[in-house]
Amino acid sequence: MNIHEYQAKAILKENGVPVQEGIVASTPGEAVEAAKTLQAQTDTHWWVVKAQIHAGGRGKGGGVKLAKSLEEVKSIAEKMIGMNLVTHQTGPDGKDVHKVLIAQDVYYPGPTTKEEYYMSILLNRKTGRNVVVYSPDGGVDIEEVAASRPDRIYREDIDPAFGLLPFQAKRIAKNLGLSGSVARELIRFVDRLYASYLAVDASMFEINPVLKTTDEKILAVDAKVNIDDNALFRHPKIEAMRDLSEEDPSEVEAGKNNLNFVKLDGNVGCMVNGAGLAMATMDIIKLSGGEPANFLDVGGGANAQTVEAGLKIILDDPNVKAILINIFGGIVRCDRVATGVVEAYKKLGNIKVPVIVRLQGTNAEEGKEVIDNSGLKVYSAITLKEAADLVRKLVK
Ligand code: GDP
Ligand code: MG
Repeated sequence: MNIHEYQAKAILKENGVPVQEGIVASTPGEAVEAAKTLQAQTDTHWWVVKAQIHAGGRGKGGGVKLAKSLEEVKSIAEKMIGMNLVTHQTGPDGKDVHKVLIAQDVYYPGPTTKEEYYMSILLNRKTGRNVVVYSPDGGVDIEEVAASRPDRIYREDIDPAFGLLPFQAKRIAKNLGLSGSVARELIRFVDRLYASYLAVDASMFEINPVLKTTDEKILAVDAKVNIDDNALFRHPKIEAMRDLSEEDPSEVEAGKNNLNFVKLDGNVGCMVNGAGLAMATMDIIKLSGGEPANFLDVGGGANAQTVEAGLKIILDDPNVKAILINIFGGIVRCDRVATGVVEAYKKLGNIKVPVIVRLQGTNAEEGKEVIDNSGLKVYSAITLKEAADLVRKLVK
């Protein structure tokens, strides 16, 4: 699960990681109040107004703006709240900004960019270990650095039995070009950062930039945090941070029905039981000349309700030209699934796209009969080849 920068910073702060202070606001009025409060509580001269969306690249896209007065805070917030922000990470449709973070300008009287570092912690799936990836050349051009100067990106693999060892933290400080008291600050920073990464069951932390301030403090200026969905039940406070407006509506709907759904941009919708078969089905669709419109695993017990919920979600997508239902009857009987499909089909009514149902396994023949005798415009198939040929014919 992704969370917003302001939420990520709250988690970091709670776990002892120094962050750029800020207060979130949903209206220009709240933004001005937040700016005043920050000024009263901290040594704030200027502010930055930061769009809160689940995507990076905001700086370059116009989602991070410096304000030198309360009037500027207000006018920037007025423009930013409600705007559609397009960055290289949002895709061409962009994301609507509902909230802004009013933060202390920690570059004052900057800006200077040479003391921005990049630091992330993530799981290296190859080694099964967490890894700290970092660079002395952080900031908004990190992708460019990674492409043109990969030697400037360093890694520190962490042995789960020992955790991040002191010599590793020292090496990080050294590679970032730090020595003396600020190196000790950085070592503490990394140490706390790794501890919080473990504490919240994160699968990714990305702090870009980590800033060395003019008074030699180390701060997290930005924070992207992804929490492992499978561990969310252990963190109800974090689970409550979920912002459904940032997620694909059809995926949210699928989640409510316990369906494993990923939206894609093809033209053939598919509904399958089992993730492996679902992936094979997507391959079949592609090989038949179509493009999968989604991944959908309805799980082990496909019944009329799950089939109906799945069909509804697939049909909501205007790109869908055909639907392939591919069910292997192991525990679930094919005739039951077929009855479920027919019931859901009748209940939803007015389905304009052809539906192909391929049933295999327990009672497959009986299932095919149910489909064929339903009188509905549903095509049945038993072998994968039959299903593929139908897809090919119907997509063309
Ligand atoms: P991102 O573009 O979505 O990664 O957003 P960031 O929070 O990383 O901000 C982008 C850039 O804005 C940073 O790399 C900084 O150069 C700049 N920035 C962020 N906070 C401040 C600040 O307090 N003062 C100034 N002057 N610039 C800032
Ligand atoms: Mg950033």
